[in-house]
Amino acid sequence: MGILEVKDVGKRFGGLQALGDVNLSVKENSVHAIIGPNGAGKSTLLNCFVGKLIPDTGSVTFDGQSVLGRTPYEINQMGISRVFQTPEIFGDLSVMENMMIPIFAKRDGAFRLQAIPHMMEEKDIVEAAEKQLVDMNMADKRNMHAAAMSRGDKRRLEIGMCLAQEPRLLLLDEPTAGMARADTNNTIDLLKQIKEERDITIAIIEHDMHVVFSLAERITVLAQGTPLVEDTPDNIKGHPKVREAYLGE
Ligand code: ADP
Ligand code: MG
Repeated sequence: MGILEVKDVGKRFGGLQALGDVNLSVKENSVHAIIGPNGAGKSTLLNCFVGKLIPDTGSVTFDGQSVLGRTPYEINQMGISRVFQTPEIFGDLSVMENMMIPIFAKRDGAFRLQAIPHMMEEKDIVEAAEKQLVDMNMADKRNMHAAAMSRGDKRRLEIGMCLAQEPRLLLLDEPTAGMARADTNNTIDLLKQIKEERDITIAIIEHDMHVVFSLAERITVLAQGTPLVEDTPDNIKGHPKVREAYLGE
């Protein structure tokens, strides 16, 4: 059984069946990519894993426990962290302050903006954030305004903010979207490094096939809300249905 098990998940938005019967099993400590054309339902599926959406039908279990009906905070506490499709950092805060936020949130259940002036007084949180910055190779940027960083570094910070919560499952929704090639390659290297250094499972939605084929051990192709095929990268590359539905051939 996988660490994440998705069974017969369906989700409808009004007249639109965004997800049909989705079945998916993500093996512990693997990198599993979900690919598919725009509007295939990839983000909707991810939203069902983290409590942002509740599917109409089916089940989602993490480490044998249902996530359905739990709040995003409860699911986060279970060990799932997620990087969003659009960067979710606080541009007005420093890199260090940003890194402290998820550590606060995990401890206190929420992050309150009123806590910002007092953040540096929390020794444990400062230490944990500093360690994560070093791990991310960002210690030299600790006092920088987050808004002033490159897109690639913002992404790096965001991924670090997720990892600071020490998740067992990291979910990434198009982490390299809009990045220059050099930043994309840095992100690939970063994810490889994370995989080597930690016991972590990664599920990644990604458009860039270079990223997918560099990282994934399993690939699920989603088309119109239904998994078309799930296989190894080598088999996916040559799959005629995939070429037709996804690569437009
Ligand atoms: P992907 O991430 O694969 O590009 P999405 O999961 O974002 O696709 O969207 C799948 C389909 O569901 C799209 O047709 C999209 O317009 C629709 N959709 C997504 N979220 C909502 C929503 N909150 N309300 C209505 N329709 C939505
Ligand atoms: Mg999406």
